[in-house]
Amino acid sequence: ATAAGILAAHTREVADFPKPGVMFKDLTPLFRDPAAFDVVLADIAARWAGQVDVVAGVEARGFIIGAPLALRMGLGFVPIRKAGKLPGDTHARSYDLEYGTATIEVTTDAFTAGHRVLLVDDVLATGGTAAAACDLVEGAGAQVVGLEMLLELSFLGGRDRLPGREVRAILVD
Ligand code: IMP
Repeated sequence: ATAAGILAAHTREVADFPKPGVMFKDLTPLFRDPAAFDVVLADIAARWAGQVDVVAGVEARGFIIGAPLALRMGLGFVPIRKAGKLPGDTHARSYDLEYGTATIEVTTDAFTAGHRVLLVDDVLATGGTAAAACDLVEGAGAQVVGLEMLLELSFLGGRDRLPGREVRAILVD
């Protein structure tokens, strides 16, 4: 089976979550099936082997994918967190949500200058989170060489907010 087929078989759709009218894609069935999760991680690792120096992921589901991916690639993992969670000096970026704004941070010592970063997350929706994370990483002196999302909700146009970026998704809806 392909990674896409396995991911499709391990995605649960939940209507009206987190609010009415939204069809939420829940990937927890993938995370609790080690054989299936392994196929998906192996697919991503093979695609980026030798092209990146470090993996970064955005809280919280980016951690679930990013940490095991980094370890299997023999690379380090950098957590990008919601404001106020990381100790010491941080870089921050704010971005607009449907209602209000959000801020994400990374510690100032997280990246080595010029390091090539693979940014991972579970779902690419409007692209706001990914665009802010790219700005944050590059503001911290590293270089985002690509983004790998398990699932892209293409009807939300997230890719348009990431012009010139190498955006990969295992499954496109
Ligand atoms: P964006 O900023 O609109 O692209 O939203 C992306 C962020 O929201 C990611 O960090 C996802 O984890 C989360 N997200 C948005 N829609 C879904 C969904 O249907 N399932 C799971 N996560 C989602």
